Amino acid sequence: MIYKSDRESKGMQDVLEVKHTDLAARLGTLYTKHGKVEVPAFIPVIHPVRQEIPIDIIKHMGFDLVITNAYITMKNYGKEVNKSIHEIINFDKAVMTDSGGYQVLEYGDLDVDHEEVARFEEMMKSDIAVPLDKPTGFAIDREKAVDHVKKTLDAAEATIKMVSNDDIIWVGPIQGGRYLDLVRYSAKRLDELGYQMFALGSPTEIMESYEFKTLAEMIIAAKSAIPINKPLHLFGAGNPLTIPLAVALGCDTFDSASYILYAKDDRYMLPNGTINIRELAYLPCNCLVCSKYKASELISLERRDRIVEIAKHNLYIIKREVDAVKQAIIDGRLWEYVIQKSLSHPKLMKANEVLIENREYLEEGTPLYKDKAIYLMSSIDQFRPEVSRFRRVVLSMSSRSDILLLIPEPDDHPLYSNERYNRIRSMLNHDVKIAYYSPFLGIVPEELSDLYPAAHHLTSSIRFKPDDFPTFKDTFFEYTKRFKKVIVVADEFMKNFIKSNALDSLIVLNDYDEITLCL
Ligand SMILES: [Zn+2]
Repeated sequence: MIYKSDRESKGMQDVLEVKHTDLAARLGTLYTKHGKVEVPAFIPVIHPVRQEIPIDIIKHMGFDLVITNAYITMKNYGKEVNKSIHEIINFDKAVMTDSGGYQVLEYGDLDVDHEEVARFEEMMKSDIAVPLDKPTGFAIDREKAVDHVKKTLDAAEATIKMVSNDDIIWVGPIQGGRYLDLVRYSAKRLDELGYQMFALGSPTEIMESYEFKTLAEMIIAAKSAIPINKPLHLFGAGNPLTIPLAVALGCDTFDSASYILYAKDDRYMLPNGTINIRELAYLPCNCLVCSKYKASELISLERRDRIVEIAKHNLYIIKREVDAVKQAIIDGRLWEYVIQKSLSHPKLMKANEVLIENREYLEEGTPLYKDKAIYLMSSIDQFRPEVSRFRRVVLSMSSRSDILLLIPEPDDHPLYSNERYNRIRSMLNHDVKIAYYSPFLGIVPEELSDLYPAAHHLTSSIRFKPDDFPTFKDTFFEYTKRFKKVIVVADEFMKNFIKSNALDSLIVLNDYDEITLCL
């Protein structure tokens, strides 16, 4: 049990070790008995009998964990197979086995039950195993969804009680589909049963119809019910568009057969979607496959060769996406990455609403301080965790001054490095508090102007519209009400803000020179 001693030497109880976090994403290590797997990780689906892409290629591409189907393996090799799953699929690294719940459901196989599937997974020495579950489809009514949750939980309870091999990571299958309370209930119950890892069933309809917002809500519902130290797997997420969002919301691993399924439909993956290979005049990629062919040559390959080549390219695109996300976590730029990605598809942009609604959830994993400046570019950035946190700190501070002087945000940060601020400061006594205003940060008082991210952000000088910044309005009213007199040197943004909020009690100045006149 190499992986156990590995963990024990570190004094760890958990299968997951986290090294970096950003938003709800974690970059870390998953410990299995066939070695360490860096997460977040994409887990390619391997067919136990008809694997079209040689598994050595997948291994050499850097995938340390693959997933295969226990049910199909059982049907083909018999219940008493005398080999490990690693021998069967010829892979010496970690292997996860999905029970095959989908197949059982699809073909109504009655001669397989959860007990046999679990025993089989143990016998095959799976590293990470999922008990038999009953996937919740998207279109089913609540009553049916309740039934699927209940049946899955019954099987999960019976399985965890009977398994003896404690070097397998057993994964609790979370069902419930779009019924978020059922997702939460299911996740909580599986945690109580002692599962070390969880997997969220994502109905194929959601993935195929790009219902990213529903998916995001399901992930947050599941995450809110399970402890932070346990990993979460997402079933069926192999579209490069889904990956950054899923990771940002806290999914550690995700599997899919999309690389080969898309290839069979001649669908060539791009970082922002897919395209039919026949529409390509160029191959906008420089992976080993795309460096070898011109678009016309790839298109005219024999079908079988073409499928293999497109599938290899597709795997490369997925891996590249995961690597880019991992780098963004280290850089503290995952928010920027997710927002940038969301511009690729209107339905992905819609899912940004979930980021806004759950900003407190995203704050937990977001470091209090980052080495790199954050970018504040469009109105959605007022909701990023670092900025929400800063506004709260500002509002929690009391002030002994009676007069507040608000000035536009200077180009250089913090305030004391700005010449104009120093000049004004030297003219005024300390009854006057000076602060600058920013559509994103709200109000930045002088004593907090070097606090992260007030002195560690870059913003574009676009003409922002005050109506797009509800957080600015809230902070402005909450902060200014503690002063007897508020004087504002108003820029375009502030003039519009004053106009649309009918702020008559403010003393509004058009220029810095007027400051001394009104004090
Ligand atoms: Zn390529």
